[in-house]
Amino acid sequence: MSIARYSRQELFSPIGKVGQKKLKDARVLLVGAGALGTSSAEMLVRAGVGHITIVDRDYVEWSNLQRQQLYTEKDVMEQLPKAVAARNRLKEVNSEVIVEGIVADVNGMNVEELVKRHGLILDATDNFETRLVINDAAVKHNVPFVFAACVASYGMMFPMIPGRTPCLHCLMDHLPAQNQTCDTVGVISPIVQLVTAYQVTSALKILTENELQPRLQSFDIWKNEQAVINVESLKNKDCPTCGSHPTFPFLAYENQTKAAVLCGRNTVQLRPGMERSIPLDKLALRLKELAGDVTVNPYLLSCTYEDYRLVFFKDGRALIHGTSEPAQAKAIYHRIVG
Ligand SMILES: [Zn+2]
Repeated sequence: MSIARYSRQELFSPIGKVGQKKLKDARVLLVGAGALGTSSAEMLVRAGVGHITIVDRDYVEWSNLQRQQLYTEKDVMEQLPKAVAARNRLKEVNSEVIVEGIVADVNGMNVEELVKRHGLILDATDNFETRLVINDAAVKHNVPFVFAACVASYGMMFPMIPGRTPCLHCLMDHLPAQNQTCDTVGVISPIVQLVTAYQVTSALKILTENELQPRLQSFDIWKNEQAVINVESLKNKDCPTCGSHPTFPFLAYENQTKAAVLCGRNTVQLRPGMERSIPLDKLALRLKELAGDVTVNPYLLSCTYEDYRLVFFKDGRALIHGTSEPAQAKAIYHRIVG
């Protein structure tokens, strides 16, 4: 290893040589290799975090290149899975670190195996269903989980420390309504960089065992607004995830989204495990720019989107025509309804 490689980081006294050694010994799980995941992963790999696992279910598309910083036009043309393209680039950035790229949909079936073998999890997902699954596993296995989200010019970040802070489940009722996605209202790259700057700073503090004041931070970079919220009082002693009698509801099979491949129809049906209602009229308005042939009646909304035809029912169920891959169908579903 080149002695100079981490010298500027080691000169920074809260990290120093001792902290640098801790980073080298660390194992970090990144769930998602989109805008947040690629930005955070690059910073962690450059910082010398010894082992990074990055998991994603999607592949690289043209619309990703505006903000997903590890990808190139070549990755789009080769239709590489994001986890593979991200791993390739990260190994070029720093060959000294171990980078695992896993092409998978993180869900209640596989999340505990992933979480157990890491010391820290970074949220780079695009939906709250997956976040709550990770949150359950993180609390159950006592692994810190740094929540991050962004859409349009707005973003949020919160470091969840099991046993110390409220968990994401405790905070759910206090977060802004999540009915917008980057695919429906867009996103600008600077908010991604702002959110991941705070997320990775929290990660560095946790990994080097520096003092961390866990605060929910929210930003609107376009409006130049920022809020820092002390959420300690929101820890709910009856929380089903982090309370005194945890049941970890999001790890239970019955509460997970079920995907059924409809034989011979090149269609996947998705049925959310948790109660969910989709306001079809509002969704139709948001889809105007994005989708074609949007029709809505009191029961369902149908539209074309890229090479797919989508049908959303108001109880949250959906049919994704044009694929027989459950992970692909879930990726599309979460892009549209979050
Ligand atoms: Zn909780």
